[in-house]
Amino acid sequence: MLNKIEKLSKVLGESYNEKSLTSTLGAFFAENFGVESFSVITKDEDSQIENCYPVFKHKKRIAYLKFSQITKDLNDFLEITSPFISLKIQNILLSEKMQKNIDFHDTMKNIAKIIETQYELNYVIPIIGEMLDKFFTDYLIYIFLKDEPTSTNKLYWPSACNDKKILETIETIEKKEMSDDRLIYALPLISESKNVGVLVAKSTEKEISLKDREYLNQLATQIATTINRANVYAEILKHATLDALTGFYNRRQLEERIKQEVSNAKRQNAPLCGIMTDIDFFKSVNDTYGHATGDLVLKTIAKIIRGQLREYDIAGRYGGEEFSILLPFTKINEAQMVAERLRSAIENKVIDISKVNPESGVKTIQITISLGIYEMQKDDNDEDLLKKADKALYQAKNTGRNKVVIHYE
Ligand code: GH3
Ligand code: MG
Ligand code: MG
Repeated sequence: MLNKIEKLSKVLGESYNEKSLTSTLGAFFAENFGVESFSVITKDEDSQIENCYPVFKHKKRIAYLKFSQITKDLNDFLEITSPFISLKIQNILLSEKMQKNIDFHDTMKNIAKIIETQYELNYVIPIIGEMLDKFFTDYLIYIFLKDEPTSTNKLYWPSACNDKKILETIETIEKKEMSDDRLIYALPLISESKNVGVLVAKSTEKEISLKDREYLNQLATQIATTINRANVYAEILKHATLDALTGFYNRRQLEERIKQEVSNAKRQNAPLCGIMTDIDFFKSVNDTYGHATGDLVLKTIAKIIRGQLREYDIAGRYGGEEFSILLPFTKINEAQMVAERLRSAIENKVIDISKVNPESGVKTIQITISLGIYEMQKDDNDEDLLKKADKALYQAKNTGRNKVVIHYE
């Protein structure tokens, strides 16, 4: 007996979580008591007490040890050793709980942090969704956002939801709701008394626990705050005229300037050219070196473009990594020279990324852009200028990139 107790204490010392405890104890009971199957049950499952040995903390049962069968020998052994096993289980449960709390606070912090660098909800929500999926491994998480003009809740994470019950619930939800089977918990996302969407957790097996509901409540508040701030920021940006990253005109202002320039050119019967540019393989820059490096590349390219243009040329950030340039009083052959100069200046620029990405072994990178150009014809309207330049850009992309292509009518 003494020998077995000693062995048991060694086995207990080797276990660090519920799974390893089950397997090491299982092996121990198999070897010493001929037990065929063994498991530790820490959740309440009252129906399964046959061949189970209860483990107590003070007078409260905290777990069962479940055996294929309990012999007299085994029972005697457990009478003596179950307090040690109980201590081990208490330890494991406590450290799992602590780890969960640490993970929770990390998740909360990371959700709050996203907004420092991103405000585009199509981008922010999937990041939050992935964080929640990682934290709630037993649940499916859905995030719906209120679509402003229609005031309906639209799914943002994941890409599909076919659960009729969830779709019904979010249509009418006003406050936190738990389904009758306790498998679906839905919470409105509310920030500054504005309802911005709905968070839903769906369990596939066991009921959603009280503790997890508390986690979800707090996470919902954090998510709602983040969404609200993103909305406010996006609204402010809409009224700005310059793009924050590059200092170029933003899309809206660019469109205003196109209207003016097109009408000027028509009135004065002067030539006007448009250039569309797009960075080559930019996604892989982000994926390889991170977003901060991607942003630095955008800034660097903007600076080179500005440096190559005349005072009255107009540069705008058309989209993420797409820049547009308007060249007033410029014919297509001159525009081609400008575009070629730009292409070559960017191709030759060595970009130092060591400050924004110190972990990377790579210190500098070089990139290329593709360009499409078009000279406005008298029948063209405001939109035609960049649309036709974009056609040429598309060709440049399809025929090898790092080149200038002209669109002719
Ligand atoms: P292609 O040569 O065909 O243009 O390939 P690509 O990878 O450049 O094209 P794609 O359109 O697939 O990728 C554009 C990428 O630009 C995706 C997006 O992550 C990135 N991007 C857009 N806006 C920003 C931004 O403001 N900052 C950063 N860092 N990346 C951005
Ligand atoms: Mg692109
Ligand atoms: Mg690109």
